[in-house]
Amino acid sequence: MVKKHQIGMSRRSFLKAGALATGALAVPSVAKGMGQVQGPSSPNRIDREVISCCQFCQVRCTTLVQVKDDKVVNVYGNPANTWTKGGMCPKGQSLVELTNSPHRLLYPLKREGDVWKRISYAESLDIVANRIVKVKEEFPDDYAHRVALFAPLWESHESEIVAQMALRMAGFPEICSSGDTCIGNSATALRICLGSAVSSTTLNEVLNTQTLVLWGANIAETYPPYIRWIDRARKKGVKVIYVDPRRTPTSNHSDTHVMARPGTDGALILGLIRILIHENLYDRDYIARYVKGFKELAASAESYTPEAVSRITWVPKEKMIDLARMLAQSKQTIIWMGGSLSRFTNAIQTVRAIVALQALTANLSGPGKGIMNMQGGKPGGLEMLEEKYSAKDLAAALGYRKVLYGMEQKRVKVLLLNSSYRRYPDANRVRKGISNVDFVVYRGFFMDEEAQLAHLIIPGTMVFESSGSQYGAQRQVVWRNRAVSAPGETVEDWRFYADLGRRINPGTFPTFDSPEDIFELVRKNAPTWTGLTLERLKKDPTGISWPCPAEGHPGTLGTLYPDNRFLTADRKVELNTPALGPIEWTEPEGSPYGDSEEAKAFPLIFTQGKVVQHWQHTYTQWSAYMAQFSEGNYVQVNPRTVQSLGLKEGDWVYLETELGKIKARLHLSEMILPGVVWTPSYPGGGSPIKANTGVSINTIIPGNWDKVSAQYNGFGCRLTKA
Ligand code: SF4
Repeated sequence: MVKKHQIGMSRRSFLKAGALATGALAVPSVAKGMGQVQGPSSPNRIDREVISCCQFCQVRCTTLVQVKDDKVVNVYGNPANTWTKGGMCPKGQSLVELTNSPHRLLYPLKREGDVWKRISYAESLDIVANRIVKVKEEFPDDYAHRVALFAPLWESHESEIVAQMALRMAGFPEICSSGDTCIGNSATALRICLGSAVSSTTLNEVLNTQTLVLWGANIAETYPPYIRWIDRARKKGVKVIYVDPRRTPTSNHSDTHVMARPGTDGALILGLIRILIHENLYDRDYIARYVKGFKELAASAESYTPEAVSRITWVPKEKMIDLARMLAQSKQTIIWMGGSLSRFTNAIQTVRAIVALQALTANLSGPGKGIMNMQGGKPGGLEMLEEKYSAKDLAAALGYRKVLYGMEQKRVKVLLLNSSYRRYPDANRVRKGISNVDFVVYRGFFMDEEAQLAHLIIPGTMVFESSGSQYGAQRQVVWRNRAVSAPGETVEDWRFYADLGRRINPGTFPTFDSPEDIFELVRKNAPTWTGLTLERLKKDPTGISWPCPAEGHPGTLGTLYPDNRFLTADRKVELNTPALGPIEWTEPEGSPYGDSEEAKAFPLIFTQGKVVQHWQHTYTQWSAYMAQFSEGNYVQVNPRTVQSLGLKEGDWVYLETELGKIKARLHLSEMILPGVVWTPSYPGGGSPIKANTGVSINTIIPGNWDKVSAQYNGFGCRLTKA
């Protein structure tokens, strides 16, 4: 086993060691790839154009990839895509450079002392499989939680399915999903209240509504191709209300902006509900027919008077009353929830309250009505294959937090690190935990901070080097075709886990020769996907939205719940789940406005968020193209917030939480509420591109959780002069 001091070699020597060992291929210059990203290249300068899609976010922009000499030379958005009309954001465009990056890992590497030794893919597979089998042999009665996988996988739905099958069929249930650090709380609340975790409607319905509420959804910056839908809606007279503690680029596309203190959205919604009830502005008939738990909701909302809510949220009482009346008058309303809503310790209650608000105004089903969430529309994971493949103990997973504890206790013996550990809060603790694991396998692309923790690196293919299906926020499934060959001995995620599955489940694991094989297995087991034939998907520039229950069915846009038939046990909106108690609001954990005396030492509210150029703290940091948008660590605050500190624009400050502090550039702006600090989530180390580096914000974010996913916002922090 590699000793701790050997892992701690300098980044420079580490990168050098990696580059030498990988024998990186000669590639086209970065500048060449970057200069051609804005539109199609002339057809006579390319060999072919391949239909593909971006893997970064749930907009799932479909793209056309231009190839010359088996190299990607350009990518542009597919103009035939209904949702994006050829739009893309810089993240998707950076894939040309990232695919051709001279920094890529191209061959499996095994750590030997202080150096990396290049090995073959077959040997690397043997090593991982043997390690996993050995865990079972050493701990025959207690092996289940000693092997873990940090998902998400990079590549496709097929990769996720086959990785789950490989590990769970072998009796290892610990697959830490992306929901832990993403919008698991929102998805859970929607599933409990309505029966499905995905959006209850699709984007086209914003053209059929009267009022669109963007609740914490900074669409212009996080999902740029969607902003044209909002502009089209406004041209048709739709009123757009934007709720966010900051003015952002999305403010320019909204009619009304409500600035509430971060983490108080649930109180604001309960305040609106109380006004609707007190002013008799809710739909009694709808409630009687379709909703369970109204009485309990009304009792719970009673203490959220306009005065109390105004004190909590900092939203003026009059504005709140106007908002409630506006929503009551609107015959059709869609609420579009941003990912930020899920990132508080009170998130599940907040999303339940949003469902309740839409129920009171009869806005959960029908044209121009519903709740949108940036949850990708997949039909489920391995559950649907459970019987067929005897997947063991699906419910037995302890979850990420116990896996972390298991690593700290040195119980976890093998970790398949298939994503960035820096996405977790208290990232230094996670890093330390991982350093306790006997054997860490990294599936990534670059010698980044994750690679530094590994004993074995098996590099993955990038998005244009593999095919597979991906699912998006409009419940659509799209198919991505491979555009170029996999370089070196990189290997697709689906192939790696299919190969591993066969080794650790001898005689029982099915043979998959292609992602198409895996897709077909899913399609045949998911009734809502029956009509999604590969033949159709491969031709469709937009993807097909499920439910698509039969071949020839066009797919389903708009409401997921026709005629108010919800997917809960008794088909009603469930607002009174005993396990969750009444819908109520509590201060986020660590808030200086709560009861904790310690928290008062950190009197400002911490918030962080995504910016257009970065994704999940990881590999967009390896793009020089992205560097033009990057600034390292910085904070945005209102000038009044730092008045007493004598700080001015551009000063260096320390941003400090109970976990520690980072140095950041100060930006003063009237666009953010006083008392609130905002910082972008992207910086991290590892990349040689200096403008993209910094200290990961998650190193100072305390590890607090709602029931399902982690808190990233709403706790206390302070600023001091650096
Ligand atoms: S919006 Fe950007 S990150 Fe999201 S799918 Fe499109 S190009 Fe990719």
